[in-house]
Amino acid sequence: MRCPLCGADDTRVVDSRPAESGHAIRRRRECESCGDRFTTYERTEAAIQVRKRSGRVEPFMPEKLRRGIESALADRPVSDRRRLDIVQSIEHALRALGSPVGSDDIGRLVLEHLRAVDEVAYLRFASVYKEFQGARDFEKEMASLEDA
Ligand SMILES: [Zn+2]
Repeated sequence: MRCPLCGADDTRVVDSRPAESGHAIRRRRECESCGDRFTTYERTEAAIQVRKRSGRVEPFMPEKLRRGIESALADRPVSDRRRLDIVQSIEHALRALGSPVGSDDIGRLVLEHLRAVDEVAYLRFASVYKEFQGARDFEKEMASLEDA
């Protein structure tokens, strides 16, 4: 944990105790470099809930998102680093939307990200996600890519 005063990396915990009725841990830290003391709180990150089209609500599973993105990107020239970035920035965006998010929100975000990274992956994902009825939809989607 970086010192907020001088920016040094060497800080040590001088006190640690439960806070917020046990939902958080409050730590006093001291900077080894300038001696400043500051407080940090550790809390569990609230789980994201997803509302399905059926109305059912279930916990968001990053693993499922990652698999969906990986299968769209199969054999595409996109680095592991980039793939991880996509998953993380989608997760971040979902968190910003506030829980529960709609399953459509997830699909929309995946489409947005894939579209920016790889058109083939985008079309693969879109063809599954949008449940294309036939070649016409696919052509429409191709045409919309050209407009972008
Ligand atoms: Zn300091």
